[in-house]
Amino acid sequence: MTSDPWAAEAIDLDRADPLARYRDLFVGTDSSAWLVYFDGNSLGRPPKATADRLSRFVTDEWGGRLIRGWDESWMDLPFEIGDAIGRWVIGAAPGQTVVGDSTTVLLYKLLRCAFDAQLAADPARVEIVVDRDEFPTDRYLVEGIAAERGGRVRWIDSAHTPGGSAGRAGAASSGRGDDHAMGVDADALAAVVGPETAVVLLSHVAYRSGYLTDAAALTRTAHDAGALVLWDLCHSAGSVPVEADAWGFDLAVGCTYKYLSGGPGSPAFAYVAARRQAFLRQPIQGWMGAADVFAMGPAYLPATGMRRFLSGTPPILGMLAMQDSLAMIAEAGVPAIRAKSIALTGFAVRVSDALLAPLGVEVASPRDAALRGGHVTLSHPAMRDVTALLWSRDVIPDYRDPGGLRIGLSPLSTSFLETLHGLHAVSVALREITGA
Ligand SMILES: *Cc1c(COP(=O)(O)O)cnc(C)c1O
Repeated sequence: MTSDPWAAEAIDLDRADPLARYRDLFVGTDSSAWLVYFDGNSLGRPPKATADRLSRFVTDEWGGRLIRGWDESWMDLPFEIGDAIGRWVIGAAPGQTVVGDSTTVLLYKLLRCAFDAQLAADPARVEIVVDRDEFPTDRYLVEGIAAERGGRVRWIDSAHTPGGSAGRAGAASSGRGDDHAMGVDADALAAVVGPETAVVLLSHVAYRSGYLTDAAALTRTAHDAGALVLWDLCHSAGSVPVEADAWGFDLAVGCTYKYLSGGPGSPAFAYVAARRQAFLRQPIQGWMGAADVFAMGPAYLPATGMRRFLSGTPPILGMLAMQDSLAMIAEAGVPAIRAKSIALTGFAVRVSDALLAPLGVEVASPRDAALRGGHVTLSHPAMRDVTALLWSRDVIPDYRDPGGLRIGLSPLSTSFLETLHGLHAVSVALREITGA
Protein backbone atom coordinates (compact mmCIF):
# COMPACT_ATOMS: atom_id res chain seq x y z
CA MET A 1 0.00 0.00 0.00
CA THR A 2 2.80 2.45 0.81
CA SER A 3 4.25 1.95 -2.68
CA ASP A 4 1.29 4.11 -3.64
CA PRO A 5 2.57 7.72 -3.51
CA TRP A 6 -0.91 8.87 -2.52
CA ALA A 7 -0.88 6.56 0.49
CA ALA A 8 2.51 7.90 1.53
CA GLU A 9 1.16 11.43 1.31
CA ALA A 10 -2.00 10.56 3.23
CA ILE A 11 0.04 8.98 6.00
CA ASP A 12 2.29 12.05 6.17
CA LEU A 13 -0.71 14.36 6.30
CA ASP A 14 -2.28 12.32 9.11
CA ARG A 15 1.00 12.39 11.03
CA ALA A 16 1.27 16.16 10.72
CA ASP A 17 -2.42 16.75 11.51
CA PRO A 18 -2.74 18.62 14.84
CA LEU A 19 -6.36 17.44 15.14
CA ALA A 20 -5.67 13.77 14.37
CA ARG A 21 -6.30 12.60 17.92
CA TYR A 22 -9.94 13.70 17.84
CA ARG A 23 -10.84 10.92 15.43
CA ASP A 24 -10.33 8.32 18.18
CA LEU A 25 -12.92 10.10 20.31
CA PHE A 26 -15.72 9.05 17.94
CA VAL A 27 -17.50 5.69 17.93
CA GLY A 28 -16.53 3.38 15.07
CA THR A 29 -13.17 4.89 14.15
CA ASP A 30 -10.94 2.14 15.51
CA SER A 31 -8.41 1.31 12.86
CA SER A 32 -9.44 -2.35 12.73
CA ALA A 33 -12.75 -1.22 11.25
CA TRP A 34 -12.22 -0.21 7.64
CA LEU A 35 -15.46 1.60 7.30
CA VAL A 36 -15.02 4.87 5.39
CA TYR A 37 -17.45 7.56 6.46
CA PHE A 38 -18.02 10.27 3.89
CA ASP A 39 -21.31 11.46 5.33
CA GLY A 40 -20.37 13.25 8.53
CA ASN A 41 -21.85 16.35 6.89
CA SER A 42 -25.29 14.69 6.90
CA LEU A 43 -25.17 12.71 10.14
CA GLY A 44 -22.09 13.15 12.29
CA ARG A 45 -20.55 10.13 14.01
CA PRO A 46 -21.37 9.87 17.73
CA PRO A 47 -18.66 10.93 20.19
CA LYS A 48 -17.70 8.04 22.49
CA ALA A 49 -18.43 10.25 25.50
CA THR A 50 -22.06 10.48 24.42
CA ALA A 51 -22.92 6.86 25.26
CA ASP A 52 -22.04 7.49 28.87
CA ARG A 53 -23.71 10.91 28.94
CA LEU A 54 -27.00 9.46 27.68
CA SER A 55 -27.05 6.55 30.07
CA ARG A 56 -26.15 8.76 33.03
CA PHE A 57 -28.95 11.10 32.09
CA VAL A 58 -31.51 8.28 32.16
CA THR A 59 -30.42 6.93 35.52
CA ASP A 60 -29.35 10.06 37.41
CA GLU A 61 -31.28 12.99 35.98
CA TRP A 62 -34.47 11.65 34.42
CA GLY A 63 -34.69 8.66 36.77
CA GLY A 64 -33.30 10.39 39.85
CA ARG A 65 -34.56 13.94 39.69
CA LEU A 66 -37.78 13.22 37.82
CA ILE A 67 -39.88 16.31 37.26
CA ARG A 68 -37.63 18.39 39.52
CA GLY A 69 -35.14 18.25 36.64
CA TRP A 70 -37.05 20.98 34.81
CA ASP A 71 -36.51 23.49 37.57
CA GLU A 72 -33.01 22.32 38.36
CA SER A 73 -31.51 22.44 34.88
CA TRP A 74 -33.59 21.39 31.89
CA MET A 75 -35.45 24.67 31.43
CA ASP A 76 -32.15 26.47 30.95
CA LEU A 77 -30.54 23.87 28.70
CA PRO A 78 -31.81 25.24 25.35
CA PHE A 79 -30.27 28.61 26.21
CA GLU A 80 -27.05 27.22 27.70
CA ILE A 81 -26.36 25.05 24.69
CA GLY A 82 -27.52 27.87 22.43
CA ASP A 83 -24.99 30.22 23.98
CA ALA A 84 -22.27 27.57 23.62
CA ILE A 85 -23.10 27.24 19.92
CA GLY A 86 -23.08 31.04 19.73
CA ARG A 87 -19.69 31.29 21.36
CA TRP A 88 -17.82 28.38 19.82
CA VAL A 89 -19.49 27.86 16.46
CA ILE A 90 -21.28 30.92 15.04
CA GLY A 91 -19.67 34.00 16.58
CA ALA A 92 -22.71 35.17 18.56
CA ALA A 93 -22.64 36.92 21.92
CA PRO A 94 -24.86 35.33 24.62
CA GLY A 95 -28.62 35.73 24.56
CA GLN A 96 -29.08 35.38 20.80
CA THR A 97 -28.99 31.63 20.16
CA VAL A 98 -31.38 28.93 21.34
CA VAL A 99 -31.85 25.22 20.61
CA GLY A 100 -35.44 24.59 19.65
CA ASP A 101 -37.43 22.66 17.08
CA SER A 102 -36.30 20.95 13.87
CA THR A 103 -34.45 23.02 11.29
CA THR A 104 -37.55 23.09 9.10
CA VAL A 105 -39.80 24.37 11.89
CA LEU A 106 -37.30 26.99 13.06
CA LEU A 107 -36.79 28.19 9.49
CA TYR A 108 -40.55 28.51 9.17
CA LYS A 109 -40.93 30.44 12.40
CA LEU A 110 -38.13 32.91 11.68
CA LEU A 111 -38.91 33.35 8.02
CA ARG A 112 -42.53 34.02 8.75
CA CYS A 113 -42.01 36.52 11.51
CA ALA A 114 -39.37 38.35 9.48
CA PHE A 115 -41.73 38.51 6.50
CA ASP A 116 -44.62 39.73 8.64
CA ALA A 117 -42.52 42.43 10.31
CA GLN A 118 -41.18 43.70 7.00
CA LEU A 119 -44.59 43.77 5.37
CA ALA A 120 -46.10 45.58 8.36
CA ALA A 121 -43.41 48.25 8.15
CA ASP A 122 -43.68 48.65 4.37
CA PRO A 123 -46.57 47.16 2.37
CA ALA A 124 -44.44 47.15 -0.79
CA ARG A 125 -42.12 44.50 0.64
CA VAL A 126 -43.87 41.35 -0.50
CA GLU A 127 -41.02 39.27 -1.92
CA ILE A 128 -39.04 36.44 -0.39
CA VAL A 129 -35.81 35.77 -2.24
CA VAL A 130 -34.47 32.21 -2.47
CA ASP A 131 -32.16 30.29 -4.77
CA ARG A 132 -33.80 27.88 -7.20
CA ASP A 133 -31.18 25.31 -6.21
CA GLU A 134 -31.67 25.81 -2.47
CA PHE A 135 -32.28 22.77 -0.26
CA PRO A 136 -35.88 21.55 -0.77
CA THR A 137 -37.22 22.24 2.71
CA ASP A 138 -36.10 25.87 2.40
CA ARG A 139 -37.76 26.33 -1.00
CA TYR A 140 -40.96 24.63 0.11
CA LEU A 141 -41.18 26.85 3.18
CA VAL A 142 -40.67 29.99 1.13
CA GLU A 143 -43.41 28.95 -1.29
CA GLY A 144 -45.72 28.03 1.57
CA ILE A 145 -45.23 31.29 3.44
CA ALA A 146 -45.62 33.35 0.27
CA ALA A 147 -48.92 31.58 -0.41
CA GLU A 148 -50.14 31.86 3.17
CA ARG A 149 -49.31 35.57 3.54
CA GLY A 150 -50.05 36.86 0.06
CA GLY A 151 -46.37 37.30 -0.75
CA ARG A 152 -44.29 36.44 -3.79
CA VAL A 153 -41.26 34.26 -4.38
CA ARG A 154 -38.32 35.86 -6.15
CA TRP A 155 -35.99 33.16 -7.47
CA ILE A 156 -32.25 33.43 -7.89
CA ASP A 157 -31.20 31.36 -10.88
CA SER A 158 -27.78 30.18 -9.91
CA ALA A 159 -26.36 26.98 -11.36
CA HIS A 160 -24.79 25.02 -8.54
CA THR A 161 -24.20 21.96 -10.61
CA PRO A 162 -22.06 22.54 -13.67
CA GLY A 163 -22.63 19.68 -16.02
CA GLY A 164 -25.98 19.10 -14.39
CA SER A 165 -28.05 20.61 -17.14
CA ALA A 166 -27.44 20.09 -20.82
CA GLY A 167 -27.04 23.80 -21.47
CA ARG A 168 -24.14 24.08 -19.08
CA ALA A 169 -22.33 20.87 -19.84
CA GLY A 170 -19.39 22.72 -21.40
CA ALA A 171 -18.65 24.64 -18.22
CA ALA A 172 -18.01 21.43 -16.36
CA SER A 173 -14.73 20.42 -17.92
CA SER A 174 -12.37 20.07 -15.02
CA GLY A 175 -9.83 22.76 -14.39
CA ARG A 176 -11.71 25.49 -16.13
CA GLY A 177 -15.06 25.47 -14.34
CA ASP A 178 -16.29 28.81 -13.07
CA ASP A 179 -16.33 28.48 -9.29
CA HIS A 180 -18.64 31.47 -8.96
CA ALA A 181 -21.28 29.77 -11.06
CA MET A 182 -21.71 27.16 -8.33
CA GLY A 183 -23.58 29.31 -5.86
CA VAL A 184 -25.05 32.67 -5.00
CA ASP A 185 -22.57 35.54 -5.00
CA ALA A 186 -23.13 39.23 -4.23
CA ASP A 187 -23.79 40.10 -7.89
CA ALA A 188 -26.44 37.41 -8.25
CA LEU A 189 -28.12 38.64 -5.09
CA ALA A 190 -27.87 42.34 -6.00
CA ALA A 191 -29.71 41.54 -9.24
CA VAL A 192 -32.85 40.38 -7.45
CA VAL A 193 -33.17 42.45 -4.26
CA GLY A 194 -34.82 45.86 -4.11
CA PRO A 195 -37.68 47.89 -2.60
CA GLU A 196 -40.01 44.89 -2.86
CA THR A 197 -37.77 42.48 -0.97
CA ALA A 198 -38.92 41.52 2.51
CA VAL A 199 -36.57 38.65 3.36
CA VAL A 200 -33.73 36.76 1.74
CA LEU A 201 -33.14 33.11 2.65
CA LEU A 202 -29.64 31.87 1.83
CA SER A 203 -27.44 28.88 2.61
CA HIS A 204 -23.97 29.75 3.79
CA VAL A 205 -22.62 26.53 2.24
CA ALA A 206 -24.63 25.10 -0.66
CA TYR A 207 -25.75 21.56 0.10
CA ARG A 208 -25.00 20.26 -3.38
CA SER A 209 -21.85 21.94 -4.65
CA GLY A 210 -20.35 22.92 -1.31
CA TYR A 211 -20.07 26.54 -2.55
CA LEU A 212 -19.18 28.83 0.36
CA THR A 213 -20.77 32.26 0.08
CA ASP A 214 -19.29 35.48 1.39
CA ALA A 215 -21.94 35.82 4.08
CA ALA A 216 -20.78 39.26 5.24
CA ALA A 217 -20.93 40.69 1.71
CA LEU A 218 -24.30 39.12 0.92
CA THR A 219 -25.74 40.38 4.18
CA ARG A 220 -24.61 43.92 3.27
CA THR A 221 -26.13 43.57 -0.20
CA ALA A 222 -29.48 42.55 1.29
CA HIS A 223 -29.38 45.26 3.95
CA ASP A 224 -28.56 47.93 1.33
CA ALA A 225 -31.86 46.96 -0.31
CA GLY A 226 -33.72 47.19 3.01
CA ALA A 227 -34.21 43.43 3.29
CA LEU A 228 -33.65 41.08 6.23
CA VAL A 229 -31.55 37.94 5.77
CA LEU A 230 -32.15 34.50 7.21
CA TRP A 231 -29.00 32.40 6.96
CA ASP A 232 -29.23 28.62 6.75
CA LEU A 233 -26.07 27.37 8.47
CA CYS A 234 -26.77 23.62 8.17
CA HIS A 235 -23.65 22.86 6.16
CA SER A 236 -21.41 25.42 7.79
CA ALA A 237 -21.93 25.17 11.56
CA GLY A 238 -18.94 23.29 12.96
CA SER A 239 -17.09 23.24 9.65
CA VAL A 240 -16.38 26.78 8.44
CA PRO A 241 -16.00 30.02 10.41
CA VAL A 242 -19.23 31.93 11.03
CA GLU A 243 -19.29 35.37 12.65
CA ALA A 244 -22.99 36.09 13.05
CA ASP A 245 -22.51 39.29 15.08
CA ALA A 246 -19.54 40.70 13.18
CA TRP A 247 -21.12 39.98 9.80
CA GLY A 248 -24.35 41.73 10.76
CA PHE A 249 -26.67 38.72 10.57
CA ASP A 250 -30.33 39.27 11.38
CA LEU A 251 -31.41 35.65 11.68
CA ALA A 252 -29.90 32.21 11.27
CA VAL A 253 -30.87 28.57 11.70
CA GLY A 254 -28.61 25.53 11.63
CA CYS A 255 -28.67 21.77 12.01
CA THR A 256 -27.02 20.06 14.95
CA TYR A 257 -26.96 16.48 13.65
CA LYS A 258 -24.49 17.25 10.85
CA TYR A 259 -21.05 18.59 11.85
CA LEU A 260 -22.25 19.03 15.46
CA SER A 261 -22.93 15.28 15.95
CA GLY A 262 -26.16 15.78 17.89
CA GLY A 263 -27.57 12.46 16.63
CA PRO A 264 -30.44 11.60 14.28
CA GLY A 265 -33.17 14.22 14.54
CA SER A 266 -31.43 16.36 17.16
CA PRO A 267 -33.08 19.79 17.38
CA ALA A 268 -31.76 22.77 15.45
CA PHE A 269 -30.52 26.12 16.74
CA ALA A 270 -31.85 29.56 15.95
CA TYR A 271 -29.98 32.86 16.11
CA VAL A 272 -31.80 36.18 16.28
CA ALA A 273 -29.66 39.32 16.57
CA ALA A 274 -30.39 41.16 19.82
CA ARG A 275 -31.41 44.28 17.89
CA ARG A 276 -34.15 42.34 16.06
CA GLN A 277 -35.65 40.25 18.87
CA ALA A 278 -38.23 42.71 20.17
CA PHE A 279 -39.61 43.39 16.67
CA LEU A 280 -40.33 39.79 15.78
CA ARG A 281 -43.29 37.67 16.84
CA GLN A 282 -43.08 34.10 15.67
CA PRO A 283 -46.27 32.39 14.58
CA ILE A 284 -46.40 29.27 16.77
CA GLN A 285 -47.53 30.92 20.00
CA GLY A 286 -47.06 28.27 22.64
CA TRP A 287 -46.80 28.44 26.38
CA MET A 288 -43.00 28.02 26.46
CA GLY A 289 -42.59 31.23 24.51
CA ALA A 290 -44.95 33.20 26.73
CA ALA A 291 -43.70 35.90 29.09
CA ASP A 292 -44.73 34.02 32.22
CA VAL A 293 -44.75 30.29 31.47
CA PHE A 294 -46.42 29.14 34.66
CA ALA A 295 -48.90 32.00 35.03
CA MET A 296 -51.14 30.06 32.62
CA GLY A 297 -52.75 33.39 31.78
CA PRO A 298 -55.71 34.08 29.52
CA ALA A 299 -53.72 35.58 26.63
CA TYR A 300 -50.37 35.04 24.95
CA LEU A 301 -47.80 37.69 25.65
CA PRO A 302 -44.39 36.85 24.15
CA ALA A 303 -41.38 36.52 26.43
CA THR A 304 -38.51 38.92 25.99
CA GLY A 305 -35.25 37.60 24.59
CA MET A 306 -34.77 34.29 22.81
CA ARG A 307 -37.44 32.43 24.75
CA ARG A 308 -40.12 34.08 22.60
CA PHE A 309 -38.91 31.93 19.71
CA LEU A 310 -39.73 28.70 21.56
CA SER A 311 -43.19 27.16 21.37
CA GLY A 312 -43.57 23.97 23.39
CA THR A 313 -41.61 21.76 25.77
CA PRO A 314 -37.93 21.67 24.70
CA PRO A 315 -36.65 18.30 23.39
CA ILE A 316 -34.11 17.77 26.17
CA LEU A 317 -33.07 14.19 25.29
CA GLY A 318 -32.32 15.32 21.75
CA MET A 319 -29.96 18.07 22.82
CA LEU A 320 -27.74 16.02 25.13
CA ALA A 321 -25.35 14.51 22.62
CA MET A 322 -24.31 17.73 20.89
CA GLN A 323 -22.64 18.88 24.10
CA ASP A 324 -19.82 16.38 23.61
CA SER A 325 -18.98 17.52 20.11
CA LEU A 326 -19.35 21.16 21.15
CA ALA A 327 -16.73 20.55 23.84
CA MET A 328 -14.38 19.17 21.18
CA ILE A 329 -15.04 22.10 18.86
CA ALA A 330 -14.44 24.56 21.71
CA GLU A 331 -11.13 22.88 22.47
CA ALA A 332 -9.91 22.48 18.89
CA GLY A 333 -11.24 25.85 17.70
CA VAL A 334 -13.03 26.54 14.42
CA PRO A 335 -9.94 28.08 12.74
CA ALA A 336 -8.01 24.81 13.16
CA ILE A 337 -11.07 22.81 12.10
CA ARG A 338 -11.38 24.94 8.97
CA ALA A 339 -7.67 24.51 8.21
CA LYS A 340 -8.04 20.74 8.36
CA SER A 341 -11.23 20.87 6.33
CA ILE A 342 -9.44 22.79 3.57
CA ALA A 343 -6.59 20.28 3.64
CA LEU A 344 -8.99 17.30 3.48
CA THR A 345 -11.13 18.66 0.66
CA GLY A 346 -8.03 19.83 -1.22
CA PHE A 347 -6.54 16.35 -0.91
CA ALA A 348 -9.79 14.80 -2.14
CA VAL A 349 -9.82 17.11 -5.17
CA ARG A 350 -6.20 16.26 -6.04
CA VAL A 351 -6.74 12.52 -5.64
CA SER A 352 -9.90 12.75 -7.71
CA ASP A 353 -8.06 14.60 -10.48
CA ALA A 354 -5.40 11.90 -10.52
CA LEU A 355 -7.46 8.73 -10.08
CA LEU A 356 -11.03 9.55 -11.08
CA ALA A 357 -10.78 12.21 -13.80
CA PRO A 358 -9.41 9.58 -16.24
CA LEU A 359 -12.67 7.68 -15.66
CA GLY A 360 -14.73 10.73 -16.60
CA VAL A 361 -15.38 12.07 -13.10
CA GLU A 362 -15.63 15.84 -12.71
CA VAL A 363 -15.22 17.88 -9.56
CA ALA A 364 -18.56 19.69 -9.18
CA SER A 365 -17.40 21.81 -6.24
CA PRO A 366 -15.32 24.98 -6.25
CA ARG A 367 -11.60 24.36 -6.77
CA ASP A 368 -10.72 27.54 -4.92
CA ALA A 369 -10.63 26.53 -1.24
CA ALA A 370 -11.82 30.01 -0.25
CA LEU A 371 -15.10 29.28 -2.07
CA ARG A 372 -15.51 25.71 -0.83
CA GLY A 373 -17.12 24.40 2.35
CA GLY A 374 -16.56 21.02 3.97
CA HIS A 375 -17.72 18.67 1.24
CA VAL A 376 -16.76 17.86 -2.33
CA THR A 377 -19.16 16.66 -4.98
CA LEU A 378 -17.83 14.37 -7.69
CA SER A 379 -20.00 14.04 -10.72
CA HIS A 380 -20.45 11.19 -13.18
CA PRO A 381 -23.65 9.73 -14.70
CA ALA A 382 -23.08 6.38 -12.93
CA MET A 383 -22.75 7.81 -9.41
CA ARG A 384 -26.17 6.65 -8.22
CA ASP A 385 -25.19 3.02 -8.85
CA VAL A 386 -21.68 3.65 -7.54
CA THR A 387 -23.14 4.93 -4.26
CA ALA A 388 -25.28 1.80 -3.79
CA LEU A 389 -22.27 -0.44 -4.41
CA LEU A 390 -20.09 1.58 -2.04
CA TRP A 391 -22.64 1.37 0.78
CA SER A 392 -22.61 -2.42 0.48
CA ARG A 393 -18.82 -2.23 0.95
CA ASP A 394 -18.89 -0.01 4.03
CA VAL A 395 -17.84 3.10 2.14
CA ILE A 396 -20.53 5.67 2.87
CA PRO A 397 -20.85 8.83 0.81
CA ASP A 398 -24.23 10.15 -0.28
CA TYR A 399 -25.78 10.82 -3.62
CA ARG A 400 -27.40 13.99 -4.90
CA ASP A 401 -28.96 14.35 -8.32
CA PRO A 402 -27.80 14.83 -10.97
CA GLY A 403 -24.92 12.35 -10.87
CA GLY A 404 -23.35 13.82 -7.76
CA LEU A 405 -21.38 11.68 -5.31
CA ARG A 406 -21.11 13.83 -2.23
CA ILE A 407 -17.98 13.33 -0.14
CA GLY A 408 -18.51 14.89 3.28
CA LEU A 409 -15.26 15.19 5.21
CA SER A 410 -16.08 15.98 8.81
CA PRO A 411 -12.78 17.43 10.02
CA LEU A 412 -12.65 16.04 13.56
CA SER A 413 -13.63 12.48 12.67
CA THR A 414 -12.09 11.92 9.22
CA SER A 415 -8.48 11.06 8.38
CA PHE A 416 -6.56 11.56 5.16
CA LEU A 417 -5.96 7.82 4.81
CA GLU A 418 -9.67 7.15 5.25
CA THR A 419 -10.32 9.71 2.52
CA LEU A 420 -7.86 7.99 0.20
CA HIS A 421 -9.34 4.52 0.90
CA GLY A 422 -12.77 5.86 0.07
CA LEU A 423 -11.65 7.42 -3.21
CA HIS A 424 -9.87 4.20 -4.19
CA ALA A 425 -13.15 2.39 -3.55
CA VAL A 426 -14.96 4.90 -5.78
CA SER A 427 -12.48 4.17 -8.54
CA VAL A 428 -12.94 0.39 -8.19
CA ALA A 429 -16.74 0.65 -8.10
CA LEU A 430 -16.84 2.98 -11.08
CA ARG A 431 -14.67 0.61 -13.15
CA GLU A 432 -16.89 -2.32 -12.25
CA ILE A 433 -20.07 -0.50 -13.16
CA THR A 434 -18.91 1.20 -16.36
CA GLY A 435 -16.55 -1.57 -17.49
CA ALA A 436 -13.83 1.06 -17.97
C1 LIG B 1 -29.97 19.22 6.36
C2 LIG B 1 -30.63 20.47 5.93
C3 LIG B 1 -31.91 20.80 6.38
C4 LIG B 1 -32.66 19.80 7.23
O1 LIG B 1 -33.82 20.23 7.82
P1 LIG B 1 -34.53 19.25 8.88
O2 LIG B 1 -35.70 19.99 9.34
O3 LIG B 1 -33.54 18.94 9.95
O4 LIG B 1 -34.89 17.99 8.15
C5 LIG B 1 -32.43 22.02 6.00
N1 LIG B 1 -31.74 22.89 5.20
C6 LIG B 1 -30.51 22.56 4.72
C7 LIG B 1 -29.78 23.50 3.84
C8 LIG B 1 -29.93 21.34 5.07
O5 LIG B 1 -28.73 21.01 4.60
